Amino acid sequence: MSDVKLTSMNRRAFVMSSAAGVLSSAALLAFNPGAVDAKEAMIGNKAPAWYRFKLGDFEATVISDGTLNLGPAAALYPKTPKENVEGVLASQFQSPAAVVVQENCLVLNTGDKLVLLDSGMGSYKTFGTTAGRLENTLAAAGIKPDDIDAIILTHGHIDHLSGIMSDDGKRLFPNAQIIMSKVEHDFWTDEAKTSSTGVMKLLVDSARKNLLPNKDRMVFVEDGKEAVKGVSVVSSRGHTPGHVSYLLSSAGQNFLFTGDAVTNTAISFSHPDWVFGFDADPGMASETRKRVLDMAAQDKLTLIGYHFAFPGIGNVAKEGDAYRFVPTSMDN
Ligand SMILES: [Zn+2]
Repeated sequence: MSDVKLTSMNRRAFVMSSAAGVLSSAALLAFNPGAVDAKEAMIGNKAPAWYRFKLGDFEATVISDGTLNLGPAAALYPKTPKENVEGVLASQFQSPAAVVVQENCLVLNTGDKLVLLDSGMGSYKTFGTTAGRLENTLAAAGIKPDDIDAIILTHGHIDHLSGIMSDDGKRLFPNAQIIMSKVEHDFWTDEAKTSSTGVMKLLVDSARKNLLPNKDRMVFVEDGKEAVKGVSVVSSRGHTPGHVSYLLSSAGQNFLFTGDAVTNTAISFSHPDWVFGFDADPGMASETRKRVLDMAAQDKLTLIGYHFAFPGIGNVAKEGDAYRFVPTSMDN
């Protein structure tokens, strides 16, 4: 790479040649005298993505598990005319052919406990090969799995709980309790659902694989109660029967880890009523989405969205019957 310095002399040359409309290759060479033409191989690999910030007296680190390709947008919003779905995504410069969402897990050091909120896809390749990076990203961020005291789950879907157990049945966080809603636990581990087919079978299998070996370390939480100090349960049912979000509070700062109560920044805010195909109870999910967004707007809670663009942090403003998401700049 050459290092171009815009000296007063070459700036003048640039201005003059531009003004004359004759920015010839000779002028470009003069403008960039240090240019070399060595060809470098493309590097291709990507750095593990993590982002650390202060949340009051807590230290928070968003840990990316990678991305999920959810497929064509129209199929994700089955009750809305295809052209409406595609129009909104196009207006937000997102591809309607392949909706790609992030997986933003969160590690919170409360000073007392080190906890992980949601745990990614594990080894499942259901939505492509770009997920399952939790372990590497934690290592890059300097966080040891042995040090995690608890894994706190928003719900029992495959993309949130599959990082708990390895394929050969080992606990990936050997000292962690698992904290979640009992309704959610019981729904997904239900023996009677093992005869399900298709997507339901995959969801039941992944939940049983990750939850059943941890019966001895399961802690169930209820709406309004604390999972650990500073992390309170906010019931947000609808996406799944026992879905919960978590209010993270320290030294006057309040963040909401939404889970899948709010999923897509292009659509969930501007069209909170649109039925999302992965919502188990679409009517309840929509009411919950609006309740959660109203609360966040009114109480000025900062959202951490599991599926929002990395690192998934921002505020919400109310606009008529809809909402607007305002991403927070990274604090370096
Ligand atoms: Zn999800």
